[in-house]
Amino acid sequence: MSSIAVYPGSFDPITNGHIGIIKRGLLVFDKLIVAVAINVRKTTLFTVEERVELIREVFRDDSRIEVGSFSGLTVEYTKMVGARVILRGLRAVADFEYELMMANMNKKICPDIETLFMMTGEEHFFINSRSVKEIASLGGPIDFLVPDEVAIALKRKLGVMQ
Ligand code: ADP
Repeated sequence: MSSIAVYPGSFDPITNGHIGIIKRGLLVFDKLIVAVAINVRKTTLFTVEERVELIREVFRDDSRIEVGSFSGLTVEYTKMVGARVILRGLRAVADFEYELMMANMNKKICPDIETLFMMTGEEHFFINSRSVKEIASLGGPIDFLVPDEVAIALKRKLGVMQ
């Protein structure tokens, strides 16, 4: 039986930090479903469709990656796609408290679903989507933070010269 995990997040947009977790996740799981969370209370730069499309573009050559979107509970989505594991990345102590709370909450709601954490790689620990957007909007370099497709989409979206 093949092992599947769901990797949920905002991915607004996907960064090299996310990609690091996905690549390492594939060393553990046969298939990963990258799931863009639709959160009406969160203002995002890219629409859900754009975020999904960017992730698809980045992983166009890898059939082990599926990309979807969901609203509602992550555990429900995970069950619905036939997975039993939620994959999350941990960057810093700051992530820990929230992630611990969510993992326990999810376990209470759905005891069959396990949350698995991967520590960020040293080359990615400082990357988050918010900073990437901020740097891009100020015309700073982002090429070492996101793949080319994302850098182009960001500059276009923000109206920054290429
Ligand atoms: P962001 O904080 O970048 O907006 P998301 O909500 O899209 O992140 O995060 C999805 C998942 O990816 C979370 O588990 C988050 O901790 C993880 N993640 C984000 N950036 C990194 C990174 N640089 N290294 C490791 N994990 C990361």
